[in-house]
Amino acid sequence: MEKLIIEKSIAGRKGFSIPTLDVPARDIKADLTEKFFRKSDLNLPEVSENEVARHYVKLSKLNYCIEDGLYPLGSCTMKYNPKVNELTASLPGFAKLHPYSHDKHTQGALQLMYELAEALKEITGLDGCSLQPAAGSHGEFTGILTFKAYHEDRGDAKRKKILIPDSAHGTNPASAAIAGFDIVSIKSNDKGRIDIADLASKCNDEVAGFMLTNPNTLGLFEYEIVEIEKLIHGCGGLMYMDGANLNALLGIVRPGDMKFDCVHINLHKTFSTPHGGGGPGAGPICVSEKLIPFLPTPQVVKNEDTYKMDYNLPKSIGKVHSAFGNFGVLVRAYTYIRMLGADGIRAVSENAIMNANYIMAKLKNVFKLPYDEFCMHEFVLSGDFQKEKGFSTKDMAKRLLDYGYHAPTIYFPLIVHEAMLIEPTETESFESLDDFANTLLKIDQEGTNDPAFLNNAPYNTPYKRLDDALAARNLNLRW
Ligand SMILES: *Cc1c(COP(=O)(O)O)cnc(C)c1O
Repeated sequence: MEKLIIEKSIAGRKGFSIPTLDVPARDIKADLTEKFFRKSDLNLPEVSENEVARHYVKLSKLNYCIEDGLYPLGSCTMKYNPKVNELTASLPGFAKLHPYSHDKHTQGALQLMYELAEALKEITGLDGCSLQPAAGSHGEFTGILTFKAYHEDRGDAKRKKILIPDSAHGTNPASAAIAGFDIVSIKSNDKGRIDIADLASKCNDEVAGFMLTNPNTLGLFEYEIVEIEKLIHGCGGLMYMDGANLNALLGIVRPGDMKFDCVHINLHKTFSTPHGGGGPGAGPICVSEKLIPFLPTPQVVKNEDTYKMDYNLPKSIGKVHSAFGNFGVLVRAYTYIRMLGADGIRAVSENAIMNANYIMAKLKNVFKLPYDEFCMHEFVLSGDFQKEKGFSTKDMAKRLLDYGYHAPTIYFPLIVHEAMLIEPTETESFESLDDFANTLLKIDQEGTNDPAFLNNAPYNTPYKRLDDALAARNLNLRW
């Protein structure tokens, strides 16, 4: 392996030079109490600027990114993010803005936030919006807190349950539990959709709300949404939509029209901010009329031609983020929406759906397709046929790395054996889709001829197969 940068250190070598002091020197130690003095050296590597640059560039090359190639990580929407978003987000007037500047100095930023919220309301067909949450899961938590505040405000104290399908993203039950609710799991039927009978049997006056991902994590549209809505609202519950998969619906169908009361939007997925590795992101929520009073404070409001932050929201659940959220992500989303316009926004989803169906059609005779019908923006394959031949979904995911791809999401959703959740996204060309599908077919051939070869993949990566269990149990992030 490459030497660590600390091993390249040579005493006296420098990566910087600063001008000689031209003001009177000051003894900093004189201003500090002794207990704050450093007792030993920092032990930083002594290297040249060139070596530092090479160190970081080498590290960056070990990471896979969307600029390397197709990134089919289902549910995560790893699509190409137009560089113009970076240009606008780095405009000094935005990038250097102090989060607590006076409203009269931040009119441009406030206008951007106001107009972004208006656009998201139109896209989701809902009435109110908060841009504050910093992630999808944070949006879930915020939305569920507004549900809680709504029921409490009506003096309805017995609604302690949130219903969640068994195919849901793990963040859904986690967010509802952190917000103080008990989780009730709803079964999926053999079509991969909500089992309506199971749902009906669990609807009662203890239900605060229902969380649904639509399209669900199998990439299937919940077409019985009208029935579902009647059951939930019928028992006095509220409808929450996990909108992380909104890139399948843009300009086609709106959560508000499906009568959801709240939806979170992953700006970093659907509206193109580079993500992965923990952020920053933004998970705004849009809500129906009855939840507006409970939204986080402050709200950006418009008064004729001026904008201001409104803190006067007596029933608000309060703040969920310092300042106004992750502003840079908001600028990127705004740019993306304005660059595409209404027709472009719809084309995003049409292409996402077409691309997923194209790959699915190319793979479905060789891989088991548990739900054999048209998909939305992503689809689930099962590696069951391959498992019988002696190699697993994990083996295929590892082998994909050798071919220069990121692996799809695997072993999720939990309700499919040997699952492989593939989301090619709308930004891949026809040729790129073909290459990826052909690579998976080739991997199936390799495994069919020699399962052991796949069991030991990858072969071309800097590290070969890791001991996942050991890595998880003895996590060590430092040398
Ligand atoms: C990504 C995702 C989330 C969580 O979003 P984060 O921004 O990672 O917190 C929730 N639900 C679904 C379906 C997702 O794909």
